[in-house]
Amino acid sequence: MATLNGEDEVVGLCRDLIRIDSTNAGDNSGPGERAAAEYVAEKLAEVGLEPQILESDRGRANVIARIAGEDSSRDALLLHGHLDVVPFNAADWAHHPLSGEIADGCVWGRGAVDMKDMDAMILAVVRQRLSEGRRPPRDVVLAFTADEEAGGHYGAQWLIEQHKDLFDGCSEAIGEVGGFSVSVDEARRLYLIEAAEKGIAWMRLTATGRAGHGSMLNAENAVTELAEAVGRIGRYEWPVRMTQTVRTFLEETSRALELELDLDDAEKTVAKLGPLARMIGATLRNTTNPTMLEAGYKANVIPQAATAHVDGRFLPGYEDEFFQTVDELLGPNVTREFIYHDIAIETDFDGPLVRAMADALLAEDPGALAVPYTLSGGTDLKAFSQMGIRGFGFAPLKLPADLDFSGMFHGVDERVPVDSLRFGVRVLDRFLDGC
Ligand SMILES: [Zn+2]
Repeated sequence: MATLNGEDEVVGLCRDLIRIDSTNAGDNSGPGERAAAEYVAEKLAEVGLEPQILESDRGRANVIARIAGEDSSRDALLLHGHLDVVPFNAADWAHHPLSGEIADGCVWGRGAVDMKDMDAMILAVVRQRLSEGRRPPRDVVLAFTADEEAGGHYGAQWLIEQHKDLFDGCSEAIGEVGGFSVSVDEARRLYLIEAAEKGIAWMRLTATGRAGHGSMLNAENAVTELAEAVGRIGRYEWPVRMTQTVRTFLEETSRALELELDLDDAEKTVAKLGPLARMIGATLRNTTNPTMLEAGYKANVIPQAATAHVDGRFLPGYEDEFFQTVDELLGPNVTREFIYHDIAIETDFDGPLVRAMADALLAEDPGALAVPYTLSGGTDLKAFSQMGIRGFGFAPLKLPADLDFSGMFHGVDERVPVDSLRFGVRVLDRFLDGC
């Protein structure tokens, strides 16, 4: 087999994947991931792997492959990336979101950031290594999943329910939303590695009262009852709770930035982080944001019921406190039910795998400082964690200081610098040497 060069291949792989429409509107109506899965499987088969395409429903395809490592008696490492992307409104974009166009040094398109970039980096590095006959030190399982953007019911969740055996021996995982740089100054960059994810509680609130004429006295008005509960929940100031991930982040970051750290007033430290403050601020506490309201049909008719939706997020270790507080805030006359509920997860930012990530970054960027952070949302890692796998968000990208990277997840004009993709391949290659 001719040897392949991952740095040279990664841009083409990323562009090809972007051009394959795999939008996921969340209702199983879209094109599905089948075409992207076939592309990925072909690229893996070319270097001697035997990928399996597993469909959970028509067109909802996942790809799994296993690479035998030098020491198969060790626990395996899972590398996972999702193949679906969120929908887009093409008219808003400077370059068509399915074009994979290269402009201003970037690859443009839906998925360039979330997360066909990482899919391409995984493919590129695996293809290069296998074409050169370089096996990883331990078994590596590759999982390219469907449906991450809608909760993974046709993807990761289905895989762990129906095909658990394919992940035999996996104890650790690397996936999305982490490993990208945030510039401190010319010479130094923080690389945010995801080590925790907040739990998710999307809730429907319902107040039920006594229907009647709008001109009458009515002490059991469902709209009033609901509005008060929504007001209490929306205005509630959740207390700061210091998780281990946030604590490590603040300690490491304060040291690097030479900021004074007062752990009793974490908000003060976070406020000094500039553009990071918004992202990190939400990981200091639980949150509850009312997002939808619905009641009534005529100005002089008091409706029987009123409903609202709330997007709640809770920190690892604080789920019980979250629901206890929510129930107190709701009061006795408003009920809640889940629209979506998923766990919070957290792992130590410590051990050989963390060192392998930090060392790989440092070898390619002498100004790198790897720090852990908490994602305020969810990824496929929540599902994989149910099999006892500890995971990190590590899709390494060295980014220009002025690129608003975190703002491009699900955003308009999603794009990833060509140089960042090539950097990512080099880092992942070193990381796999040391994993
Ligand atoms: Zn994603």
